[in-house]
Amino acid sequence: MNLKDKILAGQRVNFEEALTLYDMDLFDLGFLADTIRKNRHGKKTYFNINRHINPTNVCADVCKFCAYSATRKNPNQYTMSHEQILEIVKDIDSRGAKEVHIVSAHNPNTGLEWYLDIFKKIKTAYPHLHIKALTAAEVDFLSREYGKSYDEVLDLMVENGVDSMPGGGAEIFDEKVRDYICKGKVT
Ligand code: SF4
Repeated sequence: MNLKDKILAGQRVNFEEALTLYDMDLFDLGFLADTIRKNRHGKKTYFNINRHINPTNVCADVCKFCAYSATRKNPNQYTMSHEQILEIVKDIDSRGAKEVHIVSAHNPNTGLEWYLDIFKKIKTAYPHLHIKALTAAEVDFLSREYGKSYDEVLDLMVENGVDSMPGGGAEIFDEKVRDYICKGKVT
């Protein structure tokens, strides 16, 4: 049985077979993924209800495309208090949200504890809420700013209640382009 037939038959692929998926035509790969999805879930689609919270727009970095951070186009800097953040979480919890998604800028003034504290406060008060927080770019910033390894920052996040990471901060990985649009940010 070839790999496509195996996948369509719902059989697990082994490690070596999975690696060959990298070289598969994108449309073939999409067809396989969609077929498996339909076989498993029919016409059902799943989603979660979440709320994005952006606790601060003060940023040590200067990305050319950014219309969010306060250092360039927006003179109105803000950093939310923990009370303000908890008010938002209380509100979304009462309205059935399942996840809180916390991402923001690279603020050199808040301190690592500020982030860890708010994660802990949310998890303690709302243990049923999934906390998705801090992009890889933010983890990199905190790691450099506070002299901790990535593992240490991630461990602290998990210990304080973070359940998963969002994918933001990646933008474009081509080194030349990345160097032009967001010099200094993690590669
Ligand atoms: S790191 Fe993020 S918030 Fe800061 S300037 Fe770049 S895109 Fe904007």
